Amino acid sequence: MKCNPFFHRENLEKTLDETFVESAVRDLKQPIIARPIHGARSRYQVAFGHRRWQAFKVRRLLIPCVLRRLTDEKMVDYAWDDTFQYEAHAPREEAKLIVTRLDWKLRHCSEYENYGRDPLAVLRAMEFQRTRKVAKAGELGTRRRVPKSGKGRPPTGKYPVPESLCKTVEGVFSELPERRRIDWSTFVRSYLSLLDIPADVQEALDAKGISGSVGVMAAIARLEDPFARKLVLKWAKKRKRIPVRIIDKRVHVLNKCRDELEQLSSKPQLKKQLIELVLDKCPHPADVRLEAKRLLADTSQRPTAKQKQEISTGVFYGLGGGGDIWSRMNQDQLEQYGLHYDREVLEALKDAPIKLLHVCSTKNQEDPQRNGGLMESGWFKQYPVNAINWWDANFTPLSIAKKTYGDKFCIVCGIDHDSTMRNGTPKQVEDQVKAAIESAGEGGFMMAPGCTLFQDTPLENFNAVGRAVEEYGRCKQ
Ligand SMILES: [Zn+2]
Repeated sequence: MKCNPFFHRENLEKTLDETFVESAVRDLKQPIIARPIHGARSRYQVAFGHRRWQAFKVRRLLIPCVLRRLTDEKMVDYAWDDTFQYEAHAPREEAKLIVTRLDWKLRHCSEYENYGRDPLAVLRAMEFQRTRKVAKAGELGTRRRVPKSGKGRPPTGKYPVPESLCKTVEGVFSELPERRRIDWSTFVRSYLSLLDIPADVQEALDAKGISGSVGVMAAIARLEDPFARKLVLKWAKKRKRIPVRIIDKRVHVLNKCRDELEQLSSKPQLKKQLIELVLDKCPHPADVRLEAKRLLADTSQRPTAKQKQEISTGVFYGLGGGGDIWSRMNQDQLEQYGLHYDREVLEALKDAPIKLLHVCSTKNQEDPQRNGGLMESGWFKQYPVNAINWWDANFTPLSIAKKTYGDKFCIVCGIDHDSTMRNGTPKQVEDQVKAAIESAGEGGFMMAPGCTLFQDTPLENFNAVGRAVEEYGRCKQ
């Protein structure tokens, strides 16, 4: 004798208590129902009465049984009755049965073909229609509103979902007993993820490691990274009763940072550190990404000995591309996330004879002087470099920089690559170069623009720089 193939109940015998076994065996009100297995002599499947059958099995007794020839669909009906008669069923088992029953009922509708005869496809289409308020007739929405790929894409199938399918689905859910009544929409949102629940989560649930609602299980099952899932399970187990929203938020953050988790997969220790941060503090995904970068930088930015040799002639080290970081980060953050790691890289290159620091800015908007006065306070002296370059027409004129940094760095500036070089006359360029050389005084100076020279800079202006340098420039021997 075998189980009804549509009756999903794992470890049934373990759920029977002594009182039930006793009373079932002593006072069997009606025989169980079974069907012969087609083509197999003396082999049967129980259709209805699994708990009583198990009770007799436990006592090693024979049980009276009515044999009937039953179709698969009828077997599903019996499995349904047998399942929902009792309280003690796991949500996942019920979910499986609901889907099986939907499948059988939907087979009576011809439109079911349009959904690949997949009950989940019908459910998802209905839910999509419900939430997007899809057009009443004919085509689904407009081309603009419904993306063809990606997250907002409608599930496969025809829209609107035919009345006959909706009615059938609603019918199946209305057959659920009063105390376990859920509607199809709740089912889609909370129970569907239970169906393809990862094995590790399932194992933990079976072991009753986590006492919690369907929501907790579903939330953990939604977590994409298996390593993270393991840790979250462990974490949830330790905390016994845990509100769904607590897990939900963390799963959301971790899924948002899936790329960072992926990048850290070869470094389990660091990955664990990142996940624990999310579990403890549940920071914003952007902060998690920043932290992941920091963790990655810890190991990957440090150049190997070979890399050091390959780049050991010199380095142009650009800071804050486009100037974007100067108002976004305060000095503390710059020191923690910038200076700290920059120094590590630059120190690894200590054999390089030329290390030029470029401090990037955007015109009249983003510069380290405006937002915190970093440039003129000498903050950049902390960088282990021997030259400093910036767009001096935008912030901190050459003479001031010379006073601030002249004792430590070679000053590299003097040409305004935008107004003078790009749009000025050769004469204006020559004048600017001359003024810069005079202002720089003796030594420790290189003529340069910021990090950019525009492609449409006139050739005459380049030549003007050359002429002026030859004429006014000098080099201490
Ligand atoms: Zn720049």
